[in-house]
Amino acid sequence: MPEGHTIHRLAAHHDAVLGGARVVATSPQGRFTAGAARLTGATLAATEAYGKHLLHHYRGGPGGGILHVHLGLYGTVADGPGQPPAPVGQIRLRLVGGPAVTADGSPASGPPATAGATDRQHWLDLRGPAACELLTEAEADALRDRLGADPLRDDADPHTAGGRIRRSARPLGALLLDQTIVAGVGLVYATEVLFRAGIAPSTPGRRLTADQWQRIWADLVTLMRIGVRRGRIDTVRDEHLPEAMGRAPRNDRHGGEVYVYRRAGQPCLCCGATVAAGVLAARNTYWCPTCQPG
Ligand code: ZN
Repeated sequence: MPEGHTIHRLAAHHDAVLGGARVVATSPQGRFTAGAARLTGATLAATEAYGKHLLHHYRGGPGGGILHVHLGLYGTVADGPGQPPAPVGQIRLRLVGGPAVTADGSPASGPPATAGATDRQHWLDLRGPAACELLTEAEADALRDRLGADPLRDDADPHTAGGRIRRSARPLGALLLDQTIVAGVGLVYATEVLFRAGIAPSTPGRRLTADQWQRIWADLVTLMRIGVRRGRIDTVRDEHLPEAMGRAPRNDRHGGEVYVYRRAGQPCLCCGATVAAGVLAARNTYWCPTCQPG
């Protein structure tokens, strides 16, 4: 499942390619036909990412509203300039934006797009999301209220998140994945930030000190901002990079250089001990028994 950095990248990208544009929305697959009809003719006024949730704020049109997307395990988004390709597969939502075009390439009726509109056509296809729905402002507020602190948002409240973690008997490896406590952190960031903190993922939240939490939070902010910039998760310090250590780069479909995630049985990059794996709260977890004593 994509972690928060991917969703924040998507939000910024969608704003860059469709922000200010009036859209034509369709649901080639047919499962979002009514919602698409409400979006057609509206202008994408802003985008927002909160944890693993993507929001498009639309103004005008027949309904407008807030498009809420959660990619879940299988969702994908693709986009490109110009005319969209012929629909292939199960496209839940297709957006085509531009100042004076419609999905079939004919001139659009109605007023031109507002300031900031893209001057070229751009399309976007959403496939297989866990959620694709229109929300009211109140419903979007309720969604935000359900989510915990997102390290990539300026309005994040790490104090409340830390308080909940430090009152809990649940293991840290599970608490960091709880989206109502920390939003946007997935298995890779949770696993890696605990390695970098030298804390075993099985450690109960209530054993974490306030100082340890502050450092974990600051590290999440740093690591996830790097993830947004690079579009992949890198957590390895300079001295442990392949070129510094004279080792082969990590070969994994997830990409990025990491310390322990999916490295079970391999030597720890810091101490050489064998990286361990286990299941914690029904999720695979990885740690170094030496660097992260339980
Ligand atoms: Zn180690």
